[in-house]
Amino acid sequence: MNKQRCLLVVSGPSGAGKDTVVSRLMQLHPEIELSVSATTRAPRAGEAEGVNYYFLTDEAFEAKIRRGEMLEYAGYCGRYYGTPKSEVDGRLEAGVTVVLVIEVQGAANIKRLYPESTLIFLMPPGIEELRARLLGRGTETAEAVERRLERAKEEMAHAGEYDFTVVNREVDACAEEIWRILRARQSE
Ligand code: 5GP
Repeated sequence: MNKQRCLLVVSGPSGAGKDTVVSRLMQLHPEIELSVSATTRAPRAGEAEGVNYYFLTDEAFEAKIRRGEMLEYAGYCGRYYGTPKSEVDGRLEAGVTVVLVIEVQGAANIKRLYPESTLIFLMPPGIEELRARLLGRGTETAEAVERRLERAKEEMAHAGEYDFTVVNREVDACAEEIWRILRARQSE
């Protein structure tokens, strides 16, 4: 199997349930490992350094870019987000399946670098559902929710660039569908 097939990218608008679905996928299939991204946004309550993200200052993030330590990075709602090379390189080499939960520009960059990677776009059932989830989460101000919804619409317009689109109606079914796609790709 081409080692690039060990690379799974999951994107989807904020509130589509990416983190929940990917957590479930990893619970069901513990051999899958998560790539922890770096970001310059502030940690949310309950988020831990090195678990959810590596939380960096702008200066530290830019220094990593300059040193060529980022596999990809993008701006999102005024913050930097990026995948450190160290999260991916060794695992791919070892044939470990690694999942990147990243936005659309980053996903497009990964596909350019690794054409055999599997890109999955997670679609929310609808925009109203998305608004309700974002408001219900209570981690963003009303203004930030609206900004994320605008960004969500832009992102959903890119779904066609992904290898597969999966609608997140129910977490378990969604995680299983992603697993089936991955297994089929890896056994091709
Ligand atoms: P949040 O602030 O909600 O954690 O993440 C905002 C967006 O940034 C999400 O779409 C998330 O998938 C994306 N993101 C997280 N890490 C990365 C990364 O390493 N690279 C890119 N390009 N996007 C990321």
